[in-house]
Amino acid sequence: MEKAGAAYKVHIETFGCQMNEYDTELVRSLLKAKGFAFTEDRECADVVLMNTCAIREHAHNKVYGHLADLKALKRQRKLVIGVLGCMAQNLKEELTETVPIVDVLAGPDSYRRLPDLLTGAIAAQEKGDVQRGIAVDLSEYETYQDIMPEQATGITAWIAVMRGCDNFCTFCVVPYTRGRERSRAPQGIIREVEHLAAQGYKQITLLGQNVNSYRFEDWDFARLITAVADVPGIERVRFTSPHPKDFPPALLDAVAGHPRICKHIHLPLQVGNDRILRLMGRTYSRKEYLDLVEDIRRRRDDIALTTDIICGFCTETEEEFLDTYLTVQEVGYHAAFIFKYSERKNTIAARKYQDDVSERIKSNRVTRLVELQKAISLRKNRSMIGQTVRVLVEGDAKKSSDQWMGRTDTNITAVWEKRDAGTHPGDFTPIKISHVSATTVFGDELPAR
Ligand code: SF4
Repeated sequence: MEKAGAAYKVHIETFGCQMNEYDTELVRSLLKAKGFAFTEDRECADVVLMNTCAIREHAHNKVYGHLADLKALKRQRKLVIGVLGCMAQNLKEELTETVPIVDVLAGPDSYRRLPDLLTGAIAAQEKGDVQRGIAVDLSEYETYQDIMPEQATGITAWIAVMRGCDNFCTFCVVPYTRGRERSRAPQGIIREVEHLAAQGYKQITLLGQNVNSYRFEDWDFARLITAVADVPGIERVRFTSPHPKDFPPALLDAVAGHPRICKHIHLPLQVGNDRILRLMGRTYSRKEYLDLVEDIRRRRDDIALTTDIICGFCTETEEEFLDTYLTVQEVGYHAAFIFKYSERKNTIAARKYQDDVSERIKSNRVTRLVELQKAISLRKNRSMIGQTVRVLVEGDAKKSSDQWMGRTDTNITAVWEKRDAGTHPGDFTPIKISHVSATTVFGDELPAR
């Protein structure tokens, strides 16, 4: 396959979180090393891989939709289909029984086996046979420490510093699909950051399912993020997703004090009611969470906070939902990802609790919270009108190639007209904010100071 692999074009579709985006880059590196080529066009691919997410119902349904499309394609011509990631891990029986077109299943800890599994499936298909390859063993050790992922943007890069999760929140499938927590050696991470800095990357996002529980020998996350931010050439360091239980003072000091660690903390609340927090296994109370918010704000009141919220978890009453609503109001997040609870197979909640809040009530709660959050985001963005912010230029704006898009240190999207021919993606530039929406600030580029 070393040579023959080059003849085979792989198309990869990625669903879900940033960790999955990162894993797709890992997979590309592993396949490239074995001679596979890649295509953006599914129609001319020999292999279609779907890197899947089992956390959200929407991503889950989308994968099944794409598999239905691929079924038609596979009827017309030879095609190897692989499902990677959390759905491969969590739904292997369902997928192998109900979707016979799937040739390869590989869970998040089994990507090193993927080139061989694909080679076997391709070879069998050439002979008119079917060879199904399944690799879904969870590992206590796999961190892909030695694999340098393919990074696509040239400006911002992600680095997985730990994998897995030991928290077992009752609604979450991650501990079952991605296994136990394990952290990469800091030396390898720093080498990767240095390599990226040498290629001109400006921003690094440290990733992990529970990123701030990073621990390797006597290194904790505060020490790691500081070391990464100290790498010459790296101008911004972000991290996601943390758990509110793992914010020691040293980490808060690092975020507040280091000029290259971004002033943005994603702090998943999930709900603001103590009984539901206990049912979810979140290990903090509403008060402990609010104390942490106060601690952050006491250090620096310009740190932007964002969060994740679940509406309609098992047995949640209207009164309990209102505790969440009031908490969102009290904290005043810059943005929030708000979802309806949807039961995930094999989780503790699926085994122990009744998913008894109706879809209508869940949707109603989501709508009310989204409206509230929109008003808060708009108010916060309006308070920035007239300010000049330093923005990292990422590329063309989504709606027009006559405009640039970039992000502030606090991770707010900025959009402005292209005027200065000297501006390029990867530059830092000052933008004076003139008007805003709930999600974006708009303005004019000033001459660089
Ligand atoms: S901390 Fe909880 S929600 Fe986050 S990945 Fe772990 S189990 Fe899932």
